[in-house]
Amino acid sequence: MTTAVDTTKSARQAPYDGPLLDVRDLHVEFVTREGVARAVNGVNYSVSAGETLAVLGESGSGKSVTAQAIMGILDMPPARIPKGEIRYRGQDMLAMGKEERRKIRGQKIAMIFQDALSSLNPVLTVGFQLGEMFRAHTDASRKEAKAKAVELMDRVRIPAAKDRVGDYPHQFSGGMRQRIMIAMALALEPDLIIADEPTTALDVTVQAQVMDLLAELQAEYHMGLILITHDLGVVADVADKIAVMYAGRIVETAPVHELYASPAHPYTRGLLDSIPRLDQKGQELYAIKGLPPNLLRIPPGCAFNPRCPRAQDICRGEVPELFQVTEDDGTEQPGRGSACFFWKETLHGSRS
Ligand code: ADP
Ligand code: MG
Repeated sequence: MTTAVDTTKSARQAPYDGPLLDVRDLHVEFVTREGVARAVNGVNYSVSAGETLAVLGESGSGKSVTAQAIMGILDMPPARIPKGEIRYRGQDMLAMGKEERRKIRGQKIAMIFQDALSSLNPVLTVGFQLGEMFRAHTDASRKEAKAKAVELMDRVRIPAAKDRVGDYPHQFSGGMRQRIMIAMALALEPDLIIADEPTTALDVTVQAQVMDLLAELQAEYHMGLILITHDLGVVADVADKIAVMYAGRIVETAPVHELYASPAHPYTRGLLDSIPRLDQKGQELYAIKGLPPNLLRIPPGCAFNPRCPRAQDICRGEVPELFQVTEDDGTEQPGRGSACFFWKETLHGSRS
């Protein structure tokens, strides 16, 4: 018996069944006048096709800098990457030639930013900008590009796309502009989208609509999606797994429901406890005490220790690795890790 060999798709793209993107032990630092700011201190995360990873953390935890390192849009200097790998389909982009890297970052990985107004050119119509995005990577004619622009606007459900393709960015609402940014990302048919706080600037009701659209397109095209946010409430419904960042490190990883139900790091517990809940109206809202550390002087041991209700001597003396979180009987909980010496107590305990 002979097996037919599929020479169409597999010949063009080598088969690869690992994660689309695999960030390993990534370090990023900024050389400033006051000293070296260690913004990213050994981040590990990965995302596969069809999977959504949410990266969660307070402002300044290194979420955007990690994304910028992946996209290759850090200004170097002042930034430098002293250590780490950023593997796309198994190949380290940091070790690739410029040209090869440009192809991946321009086409395979697309990024959506918080602020659509500053990403779009105010003096060009959205149709033209969408079309140019498309034309930059294909040999489409102007006419074809315009048709593609309308199609993309339809995809992201902009009403009356055909009539609006000649409008300028300021003629759209914030939510519609963010849809246009999603359309720009889709124009390249990427297999991974990194969305950095894509709904933070929008009204709450619009946030959910844009997030749902993103999730829907991600599933339809079987893309990988990295959703960066400081607001767990926004991503809880659409993410598969979560990586929580603090002071440039991943302090907890978990499938989204497990993280919600039983956080294994005191920082995550603090973040969850500070989300307002409808069923606890009137109760005082919890806030994590203190502030994130100055990255020029990250405290020794666990960086969270000065703010942590559970901190002991060991937390001030040793940096906790990301421990595998297990059930009481020792069975592994797949994808669960916590960089806390007291993850077990945290998992079972109350707030402090
Ligand atoms: P966030 O988690 O809010 O996205 P960022 O990744 O943007 O945080 O920033 C992480 C840290 O890196 C911040 O403390 C920020 O001050 C620092 N940082 C970012 N860009 C620069 C820069 N160009 N020069 C110096 N420090 C920077
Ligand atoms: Mg950010």
